[in-house]
Amino acid sequence: MDLKEYKGVLVYIETRFGKIEKVSFELLNKGRELADKKRVDLTSLIIGYDVEKFSDELIKKGSDKVILVDDERLKDFVDSTYSNIVVDVVKKYKPEIFIAGSTNIGRSLFPRVSAKLLTGLTADCTELDIDPEDGKLLQTRPAAGGSIMATIVTPNRRPQMATVRHKVFKEAIMDPKRTGIVERFSIEERMIDKRVEYLGFEKDETQTVNLSDADIIVSGGRGLKSKDNFSLIFELAGLLNGAVGASRPCIDDGWLPFSHQVGQTGKTVSPKLYLAVGISGAIQHLAGMKSSETIIAINKDPNSPIFQVADYGIVGDLFEVVPLLIKKLKR
Ligand SMILES: Cc1cc2nc3c(=O)[nH]c(=O)nc-3n(C[C@H](O)[C@H](O)[C@H](O)COP(=O)(O)OP(=O)(O)OC[C@H]3O[C@@H](n4cnc5c(N)ncnc54)[C@H](O)[C@@H]3O)c2cc1C
Repeated sequence: MDLKEYKGVLVYIETRFGKIEKVSFELLNKGRELADKKRVDLTSLIIGYDVEKFSDELIKKGSDKVILVDDERLKDFVDSTYSNIVVDVVKKYKPEIFIAGSTNIGRSLFPRVSAKLLTGLTADCTELDIDPEDGKLLQTRPAAGGSIMATIVTPNRRPQMATVRHKVFKEAIMDPKRTGIVERFSIEERMIDKRVEYLGFEKDETQTVNLSDADIIVSGGRGLKSKDNFSLIFELAGLLNGAVGASRPCIDDGWLPFSHQVGQTGKTVSPKLYLAVGISGAIQHLAGMKSSETIIAINKDPNSPIFQVADYGIVGDLFEVVPLLIKKLKR
């Protein structure tokens, strides 16, 4: 493999229900930064049906080029078909770096693509950067059960591929003056996997909380001691118009459904305000919330690691502090 043939940064733009997923705009922002550091172009790859209308926005949000694969047969995501197309796009355009969201689609598509291309893939990165010495992509993610952060490189294969979760980076901002080019990529019949038929989409109705998009999150931890005491968290969140999060032990003990879990094996959130109540601040929890704009922690142990990331800390018994807060807010 001649590594020098590979140039530029490619971002996979994911669409769902006729809209671009927010994580794709976050990756455009990061992708632009990586491309600028390497002084190369940033390209977006968008696949689907009736997706041409997004080209202008993708350019105004940082792309130099948009590769458009727009075909009625691609209306619904089928991983084998989509991965066949992505592999052909990569073989044609030879990007040095290729990134996607760590969404259900990204997690299904990218491993297939990297396996077909015989290159490496780092999933769930929390930071991406360029090595100032040799220009390689530095792919950082929690490792060994989240106890360390590992920086991974892909030295001998291209592209260097990584996925990133929603809310890890800030979204790209529209620049109305930006210009770029749109190139169409036509699919061939052989790329369509006829063995797979898309039957429909069924929404999981148990996932009622949209933590990822909430501006205010009130999270409870083991310090609450029981499922019933979580009513305090629900009441506080209700008064603040916020969503309810939880640390993992609360989920493991069946106090709340998994959709509430924040952390490495739960959701990554980045609200304007994150209130951690009775949560110690284990590294696996912090991995999912430490990029929140303002963090307030309530914990009776002044040495709790949560206070190291908190902007405001209240050392005290949550069973005294939270009712006081509720009383004040009601007033
Ligand atoms: C591979 C792996 C993945 C994991 N993924 C996740 C994840 O996604 N999310 C996650 O949260 N964890 C995750 N964990 C678990 C993590 O390591 C911690 O065990 C967990 O976050 C601890 O939850 P906690 O802070 O609620 O409980 P604890 O660590 O037990 O902390 C409870 C806190 O409450 C305080 N407290 C107790 N009583 C009161 C009171 N009356 N008033 C005020 N404060 C009080 C205590 O001082 C203490 O700090 C993972 C672990 C592993 C190994």
